[in-house]
Amino acid sequence: MRKVFLWIAGILYCCGIAAQGQTTTDEQKYLNAMHKYITSDKLFGYVQQLSDSTLKGRLAGSEGMAQAVKIVQGYYAQWNLLPAGSNGSYIQEYPHPSVEIEEGSVEILFPLQGNKGKEALWLHKTYPWADGWFAGNNSGTGDITADIVYAGFGVTAPELGYDDYKGIDVKGKIVLIEGETPNKSQKPDSIALWYKHTLHQTKMANAAEHGAIGLLYYWVPGPNALYNPDFVYCHVTLPVVEDIFLGSGKTYKETVANIYKTLKPASFNTGKRAHIKMVSSYHPETTGKNILGVIKGSDPNLADEYVVISAHLDHLGMIPYHIAGSNDNNASSAALLGVAEALSKSEIKPKRSVLFLSLDGEEAGLTGSTYYTLHPLIPKEKIKAIINLEQVGTGEGLGAGFAKQSPQLEQPLLEANKKYVHRNLRTRSNPYLTRPRTDGAVFAQAGYPVADLTSVGGGFYHHPKDNVDSINPEMLQSSANWIYWITLLIANE
Ligand SMILES: [Zn+2]
Repeated sequence: MRKVFLWIAGILYCCGIAAQGQTTTDEQKYLNAMHKYITSDKLFGYVQQLSDSTLKGRLAGSEGMAQAVKIVQGYYAQWNLLPAGSNGSYIQEYPHPSVEIEEGSVEILFPLQGNKGKEALWLHKTYPWADGWFAGNNSGTGDITADIVYAGFGVTAPELGYDDYKGIDVKGKIVLIEGETPNKSQKPDSIALWYKHTLHQTKMANAAEHGAIGLLYYWVPGPNALYNPDFVYCHVTLPVVEDIFLGSGKTYKETVANIYKTLKPASFNTGKRAHIKMVSSYHPETTGKNILGVIKGSDPNLADEYVVISAHLDHLGMIPYHIAGSNDNNASSAALLGVAEALSKSEIKPKRSVLFLSLDGEEAGLTGSTYYTLHPLIPKEKIKAIINLEQVGTGEGLGAGFAKQSPQLEQPLLEANKKYVHRNLRTRSNPYLTRPRTDGAVFAQAGYPVADLTSVGGGFYHHPKDNVDSINPEMLQSSANWIYWITLLIANE
């Protein structure tokens, strides 16, 4: 017993010496800053602040987004980040016209039996917002009632021998279509051939060219279509699509499965009508604003090299009601802020500089990252890595796609998790073959070394349930710790 006691006392004594006698290691200093400033409370607080309904969903170019920019910029200034935008400011401003949705409603009209075609004898069914419909972000203003024609993917591609509009008449009618194309091949040349037909603006222009006056779009809402003041559209959900197919002798699921299988259109007049009302206003003069702040590197030989942490701050705006976008992408903005505060207040600074890049216009077609790649404020060859954050606040696991041309980024991603975070981590090398869907893909295609970080599990996408209740603060803290250490590993390498 006495022996054991001495042995334990000996260990305690030795540990005591080690803790008191040795100077704090760099690692310990970084850990101190992490524990002090990257806390789930603080991070969740940022998410709440940016998710507030007074910011009206942070549409690029809107007043609500201007408020969000003010908040982020205010933190940069408070923590003494160096302004790295244009003309000595934190901001890189660029032209970004916007459309604000003020009002909307959708109802589907079902013919009452025996009285087909007579206006007074239709059964009107209104659908609740979000469960049934969302306003088209870039819709024109209009109040229309017309027959609904199902037009598959809304694609006219004579060069591919495929036309959803062949044999149907949509003049003065409303078409029901969905996103993407019937092509499921992942081969690069096949993707390239179908590429332009995946774009919302191609589908909408095609519907208008065929004489349709409006569109029911079975696709998640988002402001990345082109504005046409004469064209009215909204998004509908699966229950509405299934209702429109009711009584036609076909089901939606079988119909679309068949198009995929045969690559043959299956368009038809549904015999239902839709009443769509959208009220919007166009603002050609508005601008997008990227926010850039730097923590200067401590090694004079390496300080002109950068690790970039990027995250988009914008979301969908009011369509026409509030969607907070707490995970998409306020969780990432929160993680970015957490890392910025910890590094700015850490006793020691990494060798290379760190650029915090809050992006605008991601939802509106990746406009902020695209503008940055065309008008870079730091020479491209000085950027060692861009760590792009997308929805890092839900679920229990971590995910990362790193650009195929930058395999060197996998190691720090794995090491940071293994040493400091201990979450389930899925990585994959990303060829970014399809059209860019994240800012990370935009940077990768412009030749930057990029990793796209996300969290895995839980969460809602472009839906009012993407609110603060969906955030897992502990997961958000893990993500931020992970980002912090990846940044340090690359910046100190
Ligand atoms: Zn996003």
